[in-house]
Amino acid sequence: MSDVESTEASLATREQVLARIREDSRFVLATHENPDGDALGSLVGMHGLLTALGKESAIFIAPEDMPLPDEYQDFPLDGLISSPPADVAERTVVFLDCGNIDRNSASVLRDGMHLLNIDHHHDNTNFGTLNYVVPEACCTAEIIWDLMHDLGVRPSPTIAQALYVGLITDTGRFMYENTTPRAHLMAAELIEAGVDVPAVYERLYENVQPAKLTLLATALQHVQRFDSGELTISSLSTEDFSRAEAEESYSEGIIDHLRAVRGTRVAALVRELSGPDRKGQRKVSLRATDDAVDVSAIARAQGGGGHRRAAGFTTALELGELIVFLRSQIAVQLHASSDGRAAATLV
Ligand code: AMP
Ligand code: MN
Ligand code: MN
Repeated sequence: MSDVESTEASLATREQVLARIREDSRFVLATHENPDGDALGSLVGMHGLLTALGKESAIFIAPEDMPLPDEYQDFPLDGLISSPPADVAERTVVFLDCGNIDRNSASVLRDGMHLLNIDHHHDNTNFGTLNYVVPEACCTAEIIWDLMHDLGVRPSPTIAQALYVGLITDTGRFMYENTTPRAHLMAAELIEAGVDVPAVYERLYENVQPAKLTLLATALQHVQRFDSGELTISSLSTEDFSRAEAEESYSEGIIDHLRAVRGTRVAALVRELSGPDRKGQRKVSLRATDDAVDVSAIARAQGGGGHRRAAGFTTALELGELIVFLRSQIAVQLHASSDGRAAATLV
């Protein structure tokens, strides 16, 4: 039985989530480490929703996640706190876009009486006291958008723009398979509510730092392909980052170039992490080009997770060992349908 099946019993209904929001008056919001567009968009959207309802809300982002990457620095983070509030135990703690509580660095937030877990990762570990996990939602921002309708709040331009960022980053600008008709309906409604579309795209995808281009060039030089190109992989060492004068977040988006190469079934980008407590650790990002390989299962086998077509994990494996691991996992999955033995070994 998969994790997803075994934890389904603890899922909350939308009514229970709405009731919790209506009942409590104090909230603290948190998300996963290295927050991305959906994480931040959901934080700001939820904060705006709660504030519009007259609730007290604070956005917690751990000091190690600040400052945010350049492209996210325009986010209006009113109510931002960098240490948990003294009354955290009495607040409802809302985790947004966080499939797994270990991806959040504030352990004290876990002690709250009410942990509301709102997410769209199908492999969410249901760590909350209320778990509202909607895998059909293209982004967590879509779930907030729904809650907003239910609670009768009309998005301000600020909220609309935040939710729009979550929408376009998680759908790859309306390109990935999670781009549903609803995703476009949501976009239409948010644009009507005041999103400045070209300004958002310019902020997120243009005005690129030259060091980002240097890092991309290095990653493209390091591309390796295996098994007729089924696995397209590249890696970046800490020296590559320092030589390019690049920050960690500058590698965001490189994997899309790898995924787009003809014949690729799985793209992987391996980044060596820096810092005393992360020495020897590598962050692996995975993307699948179709449903034949579930990269979240590969990531889970290494303690990570994600979506079927986009997942990640952190490991101490060396690059060579990682390649062996990934090739075997991909082979098992690609041949699983015709080979019962192989399917049984799939984690
Ligand atoms: P990334 O490759 O970092 O862009 O992540 C792709 C997807 O995988 C996102 O939905 C992440 O939330 C998820 N993900 C990445 N790393 C982890 C991890 N260590 N544990 C669980 N999920 C992860
Ligand atoms: Mn995210
Ligand atoms: Mn997301």
